Formats: sequence, C-alpha cells, structure tokens
Amino acid sequence: MVPYMKKDGNGKEERGVLEKTLDSLAFQREAPKGLFFVLVILYVALSVAVRITSTSQAVIMLGQNPVPLSVFTGVFSTVSNLCIILMVFFCGKAGFVTSIIILVIQYPMLLQGIIVHRTFASIPGLFGNLLTIIVVITIYLNNKKLGQYQQKLREQATTDLLTGLPNTFASTELVHELTKQHKPFAAVSIDIDGINSINNTMGYDMGNKVLIEVASRWKRIADEGRSGTLDFISRINGDEFSLIIRRYHSLEDIENTIRQYYEAVTDKINIEGYDFSLTASFGYAVFPFDADEQDTILSCSYAAMREIKRLNNGEHTLRFNADLFSIQNQLIIENKIRYALENDLIYVNLQPQFDMSHRLRGFEALARMKDRDGHNIRPDEFIPAAERLGLVSDVDLAVHKKATAFFRELLKKTASDITLSINVSVKHLMKSDFVEEIRALIQESGIPAKQLEIEITESVLIESAEKAARSLTELKALGLRIAIDDFGTGYSSLSYLKNFPSDVLKIDKSFIDDINTGAASPKYVEAIISLAHVMDLEVVAEGVEVAEQLETLRSGNCDYIQGYIWGQPLSPEDAEELALGIRK
Ligand code: C2E
Ligand code: CA
Ligand code: CA
Repeated sequence: MVPYMKKDGNGKEERGVLEKTLDSLAFQREAPKGLFFVLVILYVALSVAVRITSTSQAVIMLGQNPVPLSVFTGVFSTVSNLCIILMVFFCGKAGFVTSIIILVIQYPMLLQGIIVHRTFASIPGLFGNLLTIIVVITIYLNNKKLGQYQQKLREQATTDLLTGLPNTFASTELVHELTKQHKPFAAVSIDIDGINSINNTMGYDMGNKVLIEVASRWKRIADEGRSGTLDFISRINGDEFSLIIRRYHSLEDIENTIRQYYEAVTDKINIEGYDFSLTASFGYAVFPFDADEQDTILSCSYAAMREIKRLNNGEHTLRFNADLFSIQNQLIIENKIRYALENDLIYVNLQPQFDMSHRLRGFEALARMKDRDGHNIRPDEFIPAAERLGLVSDVDLAVHKKATAFFRELLKKTASDITLSINVSVKHLMKSDFVEEIRALIQESGIPAKQLEIEITESVLIESAEKAARSLTELKALGLRIAIDDFGTGYSSLSYLKNFPSDVLKIDKSFIDDINTGAASPKYVEAIISLAHVMDLEVVAEGVEVAEQLETLRSGNCDYIQGYIWGQPLSPEDAEELALGIRK
C-alpha cells in the first residue's frame, strides 16, 4: 500500500500524462468566445457581396486590366462556405444548427430562380449548397463521436474499475480544486480491516465482492446525501478509500458523517450465503486548519489513519495532530533499522585513539547504517531509536561481529597489542544473556580478552547501578577492559564510579570543548584526570579538535586522546592502513 506522501510525485506525473493524453484527443477544442458571432457576421457580409457581384455589370481596374465584378462571386461564395464549416467545427451544436438554418433558407431562393424565372444559373449554387450541408453534417457527427469518446476516456481515467467509484486521480483532482479555491473540507483516509484475511481464506474473488458491496453502500450514502454533508467517496487502491467531506458546520458534523460510513461497513455483509463482519479505520484532517496544502492535507489524514490502526485500541476514528508525524518518523526509522538488520546494512567505522606521543592505542568501533536507498543514517538518530524499540542489542551485536572480524584479521597482520573498543548500550548490558554473548564473541573471534574494551555510558550506568555492576564484574572476570563513556554528561561523580569495576574513563567532548571556549577552567579537566589516576583509571579525552586542547591535556597528564585532530572515524580498509603504518 502506497501512502499518500509517496504518491505525491507519481500523482503529479500521472495527472500530467493523463491531461496530455486527453488533450491530444481533444479534436474539438473550445472556440474563443465571440468567434461564433464573427463567423456569422462574416458570412452575412459575404452573402451580400455574392448577391451584389453576381448581378453586377460593373468592371473594376486591377492595374491596367479591367476585371468584371462578377468574377469575385465565386471567391466570396467559397469563403462564405468556409465560414459555415469553421462554425460547425469550432462552435459545437450552436454552430451546427446555425449553419444548417443558413444553408436551408437559401434553398427557396435558389429554387425560385430555377422554377419561377427558369434560369439555370443557380444550379451550381444548389449543388454547392447541398455539398456544404453534407460536409457540415459529416463534420458535426464526427465531432460528436469524438466528444463521446473523449467523455468515455475521461470517465475511465477517473473511475475505479472494480467498484465503479471515482478513483485516486479523481479524488486528488477534487482536493486540488478545493485547496486552490480555498474551500473548507475534511479529507478522510479509510482503510478497511479484514479484506486481507478474506482474500487469504476465500480467495480474491470473494474479497473483491466484499469490496464492491462496501463501495456500493458508501456510494448510496454519498449519492443520497444521507449524511447531511456533501461527500465524495473514492477508492485509492486495495482496501484504501478516501472521503472528502464538504458543507459541514462543525467538527461534530464531520464525525457524524464518518460514523455513518463506519456503520455501513460494520453492518453485516452477506455474500453468497457467507456472513462477513468488517471494520475500518478512519483518519481525517481538516483543511485549512490541520494543513493548508494539497499534499500535506492528504499526508495528514493518512498519518491519522495509520496511527488509529496501529493503536488498535477499539477506536476507529482519529483526527490529525502534529505529534503524529513524529510517531510516523519513529515508524519510518523502525522500519529502516529492521530492514538494515535483515539486509546486512549495518557496518562499522573505526576511530583511532592515540597516546600523547601520537602512538596508536587502538580503535573505537562506531556503528553506521544505510537505508534501502543507500543513504547513511546518523547513529545519534538510529541508536536512540533502536534503544526505544528494544532493537539495540541486535544493532550492537551486528557492530560487534563486524568490528571483531576486522580486528581479528588486523591482529593476524600486525601482532600488536592495540585495543578494540566496542560500545554497549545499557539496555543491552541488562539483558540476562549479555555476558554469555560477549563470552561467545571472544571465543568466535579469538581476540585476546585484554585487547577488547567495552564502553558503557556513564549516565545510564548509574541509573541501573546494581545490575550493571554485577555484569561488569563478570566481564572483568573474563579479562575484558571496561571504559566509562561520556564522562561529564551524567552525574559526573567520580566517587560514585568507584562502585563500578572499570579501567578507563572517557571524558566527554563537551568537557574538552570547554577548554578553549573558556567555559570552564582547564584546571577542571586536569583535576578530573588526576582524580581518575588516583582511582587507577586511565583517561581517554574524546572529541579533541584543536592544538590548545591537546596541550592542556598533555600538561594535565592525560593518557590518551580520540578526536578529529589526529583521526576521524575510518573505514576498515583505512583503519587497517593506519594500523599497519601505511597511512598517517
Ligand atoms: P560516542 O561513543 O561518544 O562516540 C564518539 C562520537 O563522537 C562519534 O560519533 C564520533 O564520530 C564523534 N567524534 C569523535 N571525535 C570527534 C571530534 O573530534 N569532533 C566531533 N565533532 N565529533 C567527534 P558517532 O559515530 O556519530 O556516534 C555517536 C554515538 O552513537 C556514540 O557516541 C555512541 O553513543 C553511539 N554509538 C555508536 N556506535 C554504537 C554502537 O555500536 N552501539 C551503541 N550502543 N551505541 C553506539
Ligand atoms: Ca563510545
Ligand atoms: Ca563518548
């Protein structure tokens, strides 16, 4: 099912293509106003000219040559016939009727010449007239047929074949018109629940029959104006419909109308002896209050419909509210995370850490994720979402696997004692089988436990202190190193951190930033470093970007730094080159 949001681009394209097709078939174009009268006047003038010239003996001089006026009779007569033909061609029924009248009233005059005066000079005129009548009738009938064909095409382009209701094109056109004219309306997105299971259990044929029945009930409500509002019901696709409600006085009127459509679908449906009970979800948005543009109003009603469906709380109608878009965004990011997990779109970057003399200490593995279109999603967007959705352990695991595989290969090539740091969300740490998972990771990768470091964020660690402390103790027993991440963003209580068996303290970037902005004295950072040392913790300063910070950290006896000044997060290939000394 394609949401309205997506249809935006396609809808415009579809409309453009259709309009072009219809236009190219529009043989009978609308004539500009006044053309009809111009042609009539021209015709009368030419007829008078024909009459005068045909009986005139006068001669006019064209240059040196005398030319009898009667020579022009044929020219004027041909042009007057052309006027008649143009009239039929461009002026529809009025043009046709006028031309026939004009042509027919000439007959008595022409016949009078032959019968009464016994002059046969008007015989060519008689035939000419007859021929024009035939041409006029042929053009008219042909035009009419084309018009009918065009009308049929228009109907087909705007009608849903299965239900006979207007289709998505028609409904978008209406919304387009109403928004253009700033006429108030409510756009309702409807999704019928239960059609899928009918399709699956009784076949598509039955599913279609049920859809047709629902559509005809709805059509009756709309056609008979039973709801008291002016309604336009259309089928969007599958089991999705759209209702445009106009001429209401209050929100109550809108909800009343929706209720009638709801009841029509929930009333028992009997087809070929089978009873079906369906429900439907209705989401609506009011123009111009909830949104004042064509595309957004449809997205809003669609978002409301998705939400009431998702809530599954026994309610069936929801009006749009702004929060829905953030819910929608969450659903979108959720889908992206699930898709990335299933399709191996989570990968790692490795950011180097150095000691103060610029020797490589190791790498921190940082999660990266692509969506199905290949766009990168930022970790500060998908990690918190994964935490909320309970998917973070899966994300962590995918990162850990990639990072340890990279590191194992690297150790084969360098045999060095560098460290791999991996991030673990506290939600993940709290899982009962977490320690087992890490044990398996060490076994499978064959990386010495002492070269693996687990980073856990300080603030959340403190919130779940007891259980966290237990898990960390077990990890330490396995021989791993523990780093307290983002120190300075939470309670910042070093004495409290005594309760956690840890080896490394990572000072958060925000503290390091303060060094050169002057927001805090550099002495403050120096004090943290000294205290950490007293507690037997090594210190990694994060987010070091400028030389001044580096100097302060160096004079404060910091052990390691991680930051753009010496290294951004790298692809595994680049990280390997750095570790092998091929790149600086
Ligand atoms: P973090 O663990 O504090 O990671 C350090 C972040 O700071 C990284 O951002 C890194 O690119 C960035 N950084 C490092 N040096 C500098 C610098 O000099 N300047 C600036 N402006 N930024 C610097 P990134 O990669 O966007 O990661 C964001 C956060 O996402 C991480 O913060 C961590 O909390 C989380 N995360 C990343 N990977 C994982 C993972 O595998 N599992 C879990 N649970 N969380 C992860
Ligand atoms: Ca980290
Ligand atoms: Ca950090």
